[in-house]
Amino acid sequence: MLILYIDESGVEELKAPPEHFVLLGVMIPADQWKRLDGFLDRKKAKYGLEGVEIHTAWMTRRYAEQESIPDFEKLDRNARRAAVTTAIRQRAGVLGVQGNSKKIKSYRRQSKTIEPYIHLTHDERLKCLEDLARELASWGTVRIFGEAISKRDFSVRNKTPYEVAFEQVMTRFEAYLAQVKESGIVVHDNNTTVAPRLTKLSRKFHQQGTLYRRIRNIVETPLFVDSALTSMIQMADMCAFALRRFLENNETTLWDIVEQRVDRKNGVAVGLRHYTAGRRCQCRLCVAHGRR
Ligand SMILES: [Zn+2]
Repeated sequence: MLILYIDESGVEELKAPPEHFVLLGVMIPADQWKRLDGFLDRKKAKYGLEGVEIHTAWMTRRYAEQESIPDFEKLDRNARRAAVTTAIRQRAGVLGVQGNSKKIKSYRRQSKTIEPYIHLTHDERLKCLEDLARELASWGTVRIFGEAISKRDFSVRNKTPYEVAFEQVMTRFEAYLAQVKESGIVVHDNNTTVAPRLTKLSRKFHQQGTLYRRIRNIVETPLFVDSALTSMIQMADMCAFALRRFLENNETTLWDIVEQRVDRKNGVAVGLRHYTAGRRCQCRLCVAHGRR
């Protein structure tokens, strides 16, 4: 049994930024799950992130509160945490005096999302992500399947980018399963707006196949889990984020590490497509996918 953990980066709304919508799955054999999950836990523990959700977008951000503290990197983890907590309280206090309740709310939400990581400098947070990426990439049995849709080129009628990307990822996963003669199951980050749609779509795929092939090896409709509790979904989130940032900002550090796990057949990266419709694209992904 092979498990495909799927997460997204970006939003599918065509008129909203960012430029791409990425849906990406990280596949691992079920019988290796426990070992790999344990390895990831140990990496997290090294950075004081036991049981914490690895949310790549939040971790890669710069925290103004940290940067306002002199010699922040020289403090130990407890002192950093205390200093940032104080800085957050002060900032919330200033906003409170200004009396803008919308701003206070949004600041509270923001500071809550970064709270688990405030004891790590920006460099350490990036190092942590690189460590996790390297661990994941070192597992020869891991495969990546994905679709990166350039939203300005999107021209599929009657389907949303999410539906197109999901159909593509399912098709590629199914093709891999058929080739290795295994069954597979899909685990998806719980997203209340897309869960009913994907379940319905999966049922349709089971009955009629996708646009490209019959579904014979994938079992069940996707199982939806809480990303905060599931390390493998966090790894899918990290890879999806890395891919989008590679395409949009040419940030290569994380993507360079995990790209080798994209499913390949006869040297062609069949597992991952950069969707640009008719527009000719010569990016690294398109070349690897065999588009000329
Ligand atoms: Zn491309």
